[in-house]
Amino acid sequence: MRVTFLGTGAAGGVPLFGCSCRACVRARLHKARVRLPCSALVETADSRILLDAGLTDLHERFAPGDLDAIVLTHFHPDHVQGLLHLRWGIGDRIPVCCPADPEGCADLYKHPGLLDFRALTALVPFMAGDLKLTPLPLNHSKPTLGYAIESADGCRFAYLTDTLGLPAASAKFLADWQADGLALDCSYPPHAEPKGHNDWSAALAVIAQVKPARTWFTHISHKLDAWLLDTQTIPAGLTIAGDGEQIEFTARAYQGRHSE
Ligand SMILES: [Zn+2]
Ligand SMILES: [Zn+2]
Ligand SMILES: [Zn+2]
Repeated sequence: MRVTFLGTGAAGGVPLFGCSCRACVRARLHKARVRLPCSALVETADSRILLDAGLTDLHERFAPGDLDAIVLTHFHPDHVQGLLHLRWGIGDRIPVCCPADPEGCADLYKHPGLLDFRALTALVPFMAGDLKLTPLPLNHSKPTLGYAIESADGCRFAYLTDTLGLPAASAKFLADWQADGLALDCSYPPHAEPKGHNDWSAALAVIAQVKPARTWFTHISHKLDAWLLDTQTIPAGLTIAGDGEQIEFTARAYQGRHSE
């Protein structure tokens, strides 16, 4: 199973419009430091799912039939705005698995075009291609689901944005599940009095709670990037994800986890 971070930015991205902090200046100079809307592609030999649809060029990145499903964490614009354009395309309908949110975003429900919205039930697993996904409730300002994703060969990857901490049921599921990899919302530096998103301290607390083999922080704001410029020590097993970064999970990692 391969995971590609297509975007790792908080709403507004990096660089942030009008900001001249060091992180934003750096991102204007170095394309590799740009953070697009938070999203990821999960692939196996037979399947391909897109986690969140905030990238505004989805219609150019993917061709009809490329995706088994689009899986949404929630209906905030930075996670769905790419659908506003994609829906007017031509071809087979695309399953869009999402939390049950009566509001949705803008007029997506009223004019779905080729999008086939399917509301999920928390903690009830479903298949997308040959991937098994379990929706996990998160703590955010809209109905939001994270996903525990397992490949047919047993690799386990969890994707948790947007959230501040975890509801007890999701924390328990993940602690039992033992992820090989975890992508986690860490929007702000420490002491940010976080609302709806983890800051550095809250994100570390989630890691301590669910104990994944490795963690990647994502949904990163320019403030966290600026703070990281002066931060030398990143805990072992933790990576600050960047746009385009790929993770390869192998069945061997899965066997290793269970022989421990
Ligand atoms: Zn967001
Ligand atoms: Zn900035
Ligand atoms: Zn959000």
